[in-house]
Amino acid sequence: MKAPEVSFEFFPPQNLQASFRLWDTVQVLAPLDPRFVSVTYGAGGTTRDLTRDAVATLHKSSGLKVAAHLTCVNATKEETLEIADGFAKSGVTEIVALRGDPPKGEGRFTQYPGGFANSIELIEALAATGRFKIRVGAYPDVHPEAASAQADIDWLKRKLDAGADEALTQFFFESETFFRFRDACEKAGIDGSRITPGILPIENWKGARNFARGCGTTIPQWVEDAFEKATRDGREDLLATAICTELSSELIEGGVERLHFYTMNRPELTRDVCHALGVTPKVSLENVA
Ligand code: FAD
Repeated sequence: MKAPEVSFEFFPPQNLQASFRLWDTVQVLAPLDPRFVSVTYGAGGTTRDLTRDAVATLHKSSGLKVAAHLTCVNATKEETLEIADGFAKSGVTEIVALRGDPPKGEGRFTQYPGGFANSIELIEALAATGRFKIRVGAYPDVHPEAASAQADIDWLKRKLDAGADEALTQFFFESETFFRFRDACEKAGIDGSRITPGILPIENWKGARNFARGCGTTIPQWVEDAFEKATRDGREDLLATAICTELSSELIEGGVERLHFYTMNRPELTRDVCHALGVTPKVSLENVA
């Protein structure tokens, strides 16, 4: 089995302690030579400044290729493009372009006065600048707001046609979910190799289950049962590593060459899964001699 190329997603730290944790996470995962690392943009645009600072600092200090997430929420078009311009000026020219979720408690996305109405408008505006590599979100379990699975895929095709280079998926639990989705995308004229599966190493089952329910990810009964037992036995990490490694291996066997890990700023599970998949630290012979 060929080792996959990997990328890692972080969220911006909210305080000094969290900054140290992110830095520790980067130190553990950077030797795995990721394609890129990305930094999220809090729901409702709440972490705008933190995201900007985190991507600029990571870009300057880690030597890694950094992608900034950007959403259409709570900002005019001019403000959103100014933020993108700031990313580019700090050397960050990769963007994960999203419509975004509203702030907690606000229910559905609503267009901000003078803001982008949807992700496609944002992608088109970013692509028109010619400055960015653009990635977008995709939903193997179908986005909760999609009229149908086919409508979701048609919308993804429009995002790619609007100028996006690649799609990163929401997490899912079974490889068949991804393969079904990739097949349907290919039928709709999307090159399946442009879709990179998103993998969540489950640090915290309760949190992951709530998140899955919120974003429409189907939780198979066997996963519920296995975590219930593992939680009782204090073996959640072992189970999470096993599930995640198995899922990733099946994806690679099925032709996937890249994986995107949702690290939750905790490196251990992601590192262990990567090692199991043959993604190991790049050691320079010069350093060993
Ligand atoms: P879109 O793909 O534009 O819309 C989602 C679905 O709704 C579509 O697939 C389509 O079926 C339907 N839809 C939407 N608009 C229309 C329309 N006009 N006509 C027809 N159908 C439509 N959220 C954050 O707040 N910050 C982040 O940093 C962040 N990072 C993410 C990273 C990844 C890899 C993923 C997968 C998601 C991320 N999210 C983030 C969550 C994301 O913002 C939510 O899932 C949001 O609800 C949808 O954003 P989107 O850009 O994927 O939306």
